[in-house]
Amino acid sequence: MKNMPANRAVFLDRDGTLMEDANYVGSLDGVILIPCAATALKRLHEAGYKLFVITNQSGVGRGYFPSEAVQQIHAHLDEQFGKHGVKIDRYYVCPHHPEDNCDCRKPKPKFLLEAASEYGLNLSNCFMIGDRPSDLMAGRNAGAKIILVLTGVGQETRAKREVTPDCVARDISAAADWILQQPD
Ligand SMILES: [Mg+2]
Ligand SMILES: [Zn+2]
Repeated sequence: MKNMPANRAVFLDRDGTLMEDANYVGSLDGVILIPCAATALKRLHEAGYKLFVITNQSGVGRGYFPSEAVQQIHAHLDEQFGKHGVKIDRYYVCPHHPEDNCDCRKPKPKFLLEAASEYGLNLSNCFMIGDRPSDLMAGRNAGAKIILVLTGVGQETRAKREVTPDCVARDISAAADWILQQPD
């Protein structure tokens, strides 16, 4: 039973993947969900994937908004996704300024490794979905499969060719399609 669903997770970037990337979103006014996100998450959840959001929120470290604002946005996402019967298992937030050189900011894989050890995940059965090279690198550094979505800044990321993803998907719904087609 090496691929029991309990060992699997999808790691999700937030801005540009689940919601529009509106540059340092610090209030609910700036939260615009990507329309297909909730149903995509629901399908992954129903297939037994744990769902983790891994997000760099340097707006906190830059002093643009307090960490409470980030929590408020995540409570709002929980409420919206909850309407579709979806629960994010955990939000991992790096609040630091890039120059802090912390150990948790993507592309560092710290949060993925932490989730793997805490939830008993087999990272080779896990996926990271994001729109920036740092998302893809974080996933690859952790040993997960990586999916580039073309929402957010995904088109620019594809053009840069810094990282070769395992899959390029139109959006998170297409990413979910691809994940659900993978053989056990
Ligand atoms: Mg993003
Ligand atoms: Zn950090």
